[in-house]
Amino acid sequence: MSLSGKTAVITGSNSGIGLGVAQELAKAGANVVLNSFTDRDEDHALAAQIASDTGVEAKYVQADMSKADDCRRLIVEAGDCDILINNAGIQHVAPVQDFPVEKWDAIIAINMSSAFHTMAAAVSGMREKGWGRVVNIASAHGLTASPYKSAYVAAKHGVVGMTKVVALETAEDPITCNAICPGYVLTPLVEAQIPDTMKEYNMSREDVVRNVLLERQPSKEFATVEQLGGTTVFLCSDAAAQITGTTISVDGGWTAL
Ligand code: NAD
Repeated sequence: MSLSGKTAVITGSNSGIGLGVAQELAKAGANVVLNSFTDRDEDHALAAQIASDTGVEAKYVQADMSKADDCRRLIVEAGDCDILINNAGIQHVAPVQDFPVEKWDAIIAINMSSAFHTMAAAVSGMREKGWGRVVNIASAHGLTASPYKSAYVAAKHGVVGMTKVVALETAEDPITCNAICPGYVLTPLVEAQIPDTMKEYNMSREDVVRNVLLERQPSKEFATVEQLGGTTVFLCSDAAAQITGTTISVDGGWTAL
């Protein structure tokens, strides 16, 4: 499958799933635009590494996905945006009565509103070019809930809803808009939850992974960033041209329970 000649913009892609998706899209031939809110030499080096590994064009654009103007600027500075992957996301865990308002605002902005702004900025260009793919990295928490994740679950359900709306608005165009709903993937976002959970439950790392994190993941295995990248490449392929407005779960059976 070749995505040669297409350009993919991946929000939040200097780490974890976003970086994995960017690498798989580049292996499939797409030029890639990496992004995060930082502007470090190592961010730009990631793009250079992808370019030298795969031979595609790759660049890094700093833009803070908590800010509407930056989200829209990212699409402009990307130059082209045939494929848009909304992936940037953060997490905070607290009971609703204690949930810090600034964390609520940040999660809603980065995990949900950023996708609104980038899609709003990218869809007209896709229509003009007569081809487009939007893949929103939602979550199993876009379909189900867990306690203490009010902002995250609200944002991810919002992303799934918005995905359906944009799919309907672009249904007669050669554009598709879908969401991928991963279960647990071992990335820095998940790794960061392990020490606190070990303390909270007085458990070993191994027990936290199997009995807490993967409690609801029947496969008892983390999904990998390569699998998420592969699913994204599939959704960008011609085989997926009639798949729009839906979700694909990559969750080891979580949402089958
Ligand atoms: P991660 O922490 O490794 O990556 C998050 C990315 O978002 C990083 O590149 C980070 O720099 C970027 N980011 C954070 N704030 C940003 C901002 N203000 N502007 C621009 N970029 C910003 O986490 P991850 O696990 O790779 O998560 C990626 C996405 O996948 C998130 O939307 C997350 O909710 C979703 N997800 C992850 C899992 C999992 O188990 N890891 C499961 C389901 C869904």
